[in-house]
Amino acid sequence: MAKDFIDVHTHTLASGHAYNTIHEMAQAAAAAGIFVLGITEHAPKMPGSCHTMYFMNLKVLRRELYGVRMLFGAELNVLDMQGTLDLPDSVLDTLDIAVASIHLPCYQKGTKEQNSTAYINAMKNPHVNIIGHPDDERLGFDYEMLVEAAKEHHVLLEVNNSSLAPNGYRVGAWQNYLTMLALCKRLEVPVIMSRDAHTAFDVGNHEYAKKLLLEADFPERLIANYSEALFLEYVPKAGAVCERNCPDVPDCPALSGALTNRGRPGS
Ligand SMILES: [Zn+2]
Ligand SMILES: [Zn+2]
Repeated sequence: MAKDFIDVHTHTLASGHAYNTIHEMAQAAAAAGIFVLGITEHAPKMPGSCHTMYFMNLKVLRRELYGVRMLFGAELNVLDMQGTLDLPDSVLDTLDIAVASIHLPCYQKGTKEQNSTAYINAMKNPHVNIIGHPDDERLGFDYEMLVEAAKEHHVLLEVNNSSLAPNGYRVGAWQNYLTMLALCKRLEVPVIMSRDAHTAFDVGNHEYAKKLLLEADFPERLIANYSEALFLEYVPKAGAVCERNCPDVPDCPALSGALTNRGRPGS
C-alpha cells in the first residue's frame, strides 16, 4: 500500500467556522505522518471568513513547521456560472495552492449542466489547482463534462473525506464519486484525497475516501496523495516554497522529505 502523505485542503480559526491554529494543525499533521499540509482558508465571500488582506500577507508565514512542508492558499468560492472567483488574480498569483469549490451560501444553484459549467469555467483560471468536493447531489453535476474538462484544463478533482463521512452534510457523495471515478479511470484523470479538516484532530484522515477508492478499484498511480511527482505536476508552486520562504533553514526537515527526491514519503 502506498504512503498517503499529502493533505492540502484544511481550515484554521481564520475561516470562521474552524477551530485550531496553524501551529496546532501542523503538529497534528506531523503526528499523522502527513509531510505536506495545505492550509486553504475560505475565501472572503464565505460568511465569517477572513478578508482579502489575510491572503495578501501569507508571505510572512514559514513554509516549514514541525518537519511538515506547509502550503498556504485558499479555498475559493465559485460564485456563478461564469466561474467567477472571490480573490483577484493578483492575489491568486501569490498563493502556494488554490482549491475552487461551490458552496451553497455563495452560489445560486442551477441545473446539473449549469453547475458543471461553473466548475469548468473556474478550471480555466490557471491559478486553480484542485476542484473541491464536486459531489453534492443538492447541486448535481454532469460528470462526463467535469472529468473531460479536468483533463483538458489540467486540474485535480478532489475526493473529499468530509463529504463521505457519515456525519457529512453533503448529499449523495458516495454514489456521485463512484460515477466520477469510473470516468477518471477511463480517461486517466488523477484525483486527490482531502480531509477538509476544520479541527486538528481530523488532519490527514482519509478513511472514507480510501474505502471509496478501493470500492471503485481506482488505480493508486492516479492518486496524487501517493506521489510527489504527480502532485507537483498539478501544484507546481509547491516545489519551491521552502527555498523562497525559509531561506534561513538550509537543512529544512521538510525539504529532506516531502516534495524533494530525497526520499522520505513512500521510500
Ligand atoms: Zn468547501
Ligand atoms: Zn474546505
